[in-house]
Amino acid sequence: MKVLAPSNKPRTDRIIILGSTGSIGVNTIEVVEHLNRLGSRRFEIVGLAAGTRLDELAAQAHALGVSHVASPDPGAKEHLSDLVENVHVGADAAVEMLHQIARPGDLVIGAIVGAAGIKPSIAALELGCDLALANKESLVAAGPLVLAAAERSGAKIIPVDSEHSAVFQCLHAGRQDREIAKVVLTASGGPFRTWTKDRMRSANVKEALNHPTWSMGSKVTIDSASLMNKGLELIEAHWLFGLGSDRLDAIFHPQSIVHSFVEFTDHAVIAQLSPPDMKLPIQYAISWPDRLPGSASRTDFTQFADLHFESIDRVRFPAIAMALEVIDQPSGAGAIFNAANEVAVAQFLQEKIPFGAIVDTVEATLERITPGEITTLADVLEIDHESRRVAQEILMASSDR
Ligand code: NAD
Ligand code: MG
Repeated sequence: MKVLAPSNKPRTDRIIILGSTGSIGVNTIEVVEHLNRLGSRRFEIVGLAAGTRLDELAAQAHALGVSHVASPDPGAKEHLSDLVENVHVGADAAVEMLHQIARPGDLVIGAIVGAAGIKPSIAALELGCDLALANKESLVAAGPLVLAAAERSGAKIIPVDSEHSAVFQCLHAGRQDREIAKVVLTASGGPFRTWTKDRMRSANVKEALNHPTWSMGSKVTIDSASLMNKGLELIEAHWLFGLGSDRLDAIFHPQSIVHSFVEFTDHAVIAQLSPPDMKLPIQYAISWPDRLPGSASRTDFTQFADLHFESIDRVRFPAIAMALEVIDQPSGAGAIFNAANEVAVAQFLQEKIPFGAIVDTVEATLERITPGEITTLADVLEIDHESRRVAQEILMASSDR
């Protein structure tokens, strides 16, 4: 299990945040400020990348005194060059920035949303930086390449996704792979956990964005409502922990207190509990392998006397079975699953398609394309491109009907 191998490289205290203006990015800055107030270690944020909200990026860069920022938006140059010495722009701006500033042992926070995170994730690891990974899409679409990059440089991938951070913490006592019976990811169930399939089909954007326990960016919030997020996370867990579909499962847990658990072969179960607050997994990725006094809220057990668990209805939520099948297929299937979902979610957010079309489109795209193994970045980009084209076509055909 690669993710659990002990680190052989010392960390610097330098941090680069990719996706700094998003939900994870902003939480990361707050966690770093908290850790620096503790005074025992001083972390320095040395670079920021963001795709949107340039005013916020400018304010962050100014407040943190960073000398490098990156954005795909060409307008960033004019917007930021008075404030920041080096402004990298264009499609590969984040990768270009990493090549200029990243040093082995630095920590890169991978918090870009979507497949745009693939190249930066790989670049960070190739440069010998540990990767605190929130951008699950890069593992889902390009798992073999991300792992190979870490292997080559000896850098570590530390999960930030709360479920995977929980599993990572549960496995910390140096457990052997053969001792793991099952890794079970918990799912809040999002806003539609109790809805019928028909009602869900025509849910609107406002209803789908109304997440009961987590406050997150719009894409991952929609993914949580369709359970595509849990599907993506099962595939993410497959790559992170090296487990097949037979040792992975997901279960509803509406309170989002138990963030996932591991069942061992002797039937002992170890879980990680805390209130739903991304500051904890983010801080753990930064302080790992140590623990430092927390900025996340504490667990008050008297408030959580009723913790519920229930199995996920795979008819209402086909994303789970689809993801487990993807794990059994050649690695290109993950890139199809991810790309088709990204296309459909973007269109749903623009109110062009019904909610039910998201999962249908992913299913139909997987049926249309036969995946091969991913061995190069060109493979990923090609299958990502083709899947987006096919998903668009499927959506156009269904809207004509
Ligand atoms: P978000 O939409 O709030 O933020 C995304 C960030 O990525 C923004 O800063 C945006 O400007 C930036 N970005 C987008 N395209 C970019 C590009 N091409 N180059 C550089 N920056 C770009 O999203 P989020 O909720 O923070 O989620 C980020 C990632 O973390 C997603 O993969 C999500 O699934 C994962 N995640 C999020 C949470 C959460 O609590 N928000 C929890 C678990 C996992
Ligand atoms: Mg998660």
